[in-house]
Amino acid sequence: MKCRHCAQTLEHVFLDLGFAPPSNAYLQAEDLRRPEKYFPLKVRVCHACWLVQTEDYAQADELFNADYAYFSSTSSGWLAHAKRYSEAMTERLSLGPQSLVIEVASNDGYLLKNFIAANIPCLGIEPTASTAEVAERQGIPVLREFFGEALGQRLAAQGRQADLIAGNNVYAHVPDINDFTRGLRAALKPGGTITLEFPHLMQLIAQVQFDTVYHEHFSYLSLHTVSSIFDAAGLRVYDVETLPTHGGSLRVFGCHTDDARTTTAAVASMLAEEDHQGLRSLRTYQDFQARADRVKDGLLAFLLEQKRAGKKVVAYGAAAKGNTLLNYAGVKPDLLPLVCDAAEAKQGKFMPGSHIPILAPQALAESQPDFVLILPWNIAAEVIAQNRALKQGGTRFATAVPEMRLWDDA
Ligand SMILES: [Zn+2]
Repeated sequence: MKCRHCAQTLEHVFLDLGFAPPSNAYLQAEDLRRPEKYFPLKVRVCHACWLVQTEDYAQADELFNADYAYFSSTSSGWLAHAKRYSEAMTERLSLGPQSLVIEVASNDGYLLKNFIAANIPCLGIEPTASTAEVAERQGIPVLREFFGEALGQRLAAQGRQADLIAGNNVYAHVPDINDFTRGLRAALKPGGTITLEFPHLMQLIAQVQFDTVYHEHFSYLSLHTVSSIFDAAGLRVYDVETLPTHGGSLRVFGCHTDDARTTTAAVASMLAEEDHQGLRSLRTYQDFQARADRVKDGLLAFLLEQKRAGKKVVAYGAAAKGNTLLNYAGVKPDLLPLVCDAAEAKQGKFMPGSHIPILAPQALAESQPDFVLILPWNIAAEVIAQNRALKQGGTRFATAVPEMRLWDDA
């Protein structure tokens, strides 16, 4: 396989998680009597440009047939994040009725509705019909297509280049990142700004967040690699911010290569930090599998210890990262009999691979567990705060990444 960015032959494995079903392929009861499809889940690193990328597999298109659609507006924290972003960008870029804001992967309009409310014209790009419909009902024009160079050029030819192009949590999920980035350039007005948010590879490595690896997540990105991808497409990263979302994300600000704006000191500073953390050293990547295995072993040791002691452990949060962790560890309902999740669309279904049943959050209290394992560790404090009564009743809360932790002091 060749690197998806620089076409170098990929020689090094970053992480091999064996085989796993697609992380969002939640099962109905009747599916439990059918065979389940597993795909290899292997991630490689390019030693030329350091792009960390999932390996290609046969029949990859079958991965995306799962009918589960994520609606961004179900998370109140994410809505607040989007509102703050809209206000900050409107002020920083002096956006107004004469501007155009394009969002790639606009989902249900959770972000663009803020621009609509401020009378700033916008355009969403979203191939998923169910989420696009919700956005359109709020008055947001949506093109129901996948974004890439062809669409970017079509928008430019129609005179619809943008002052601001936003992409939140889409960049790591596009299969052809070079084509996508050339599309951004084509759709960007001279003097315009692109912002992209994506989980930062530096945090993934430092915090052993191997459970954020799943098939639909094609690229694991550093600022170094994103700068290189931008350069190749005629763009330049001129600023960068760190965000707490998804265990530590970057928001990069891009412009045309020849834009008059100077590159901020924050860019050089983050590049230096990445070098300091070994992101351009092969050893850093080669050490990762053993660190991920230690996390998996720690979880299994904990679950086996509680089972032997006759203690009951249940899980909270039927998220993609939970599926990666449980499937890699081979955890089944004998060790973890149920998982609770607030998303109604998941309740009554089963986790792919592990077949652990997903119940409404009330089941947490009803099952009187000794321990609650919070699978989305990034929201652990929030989950504990919502279940204060359970904690006061003696239930203990735990997370497994970057190592087994009991939240007795939280
Ligand atoms: Zn490469």
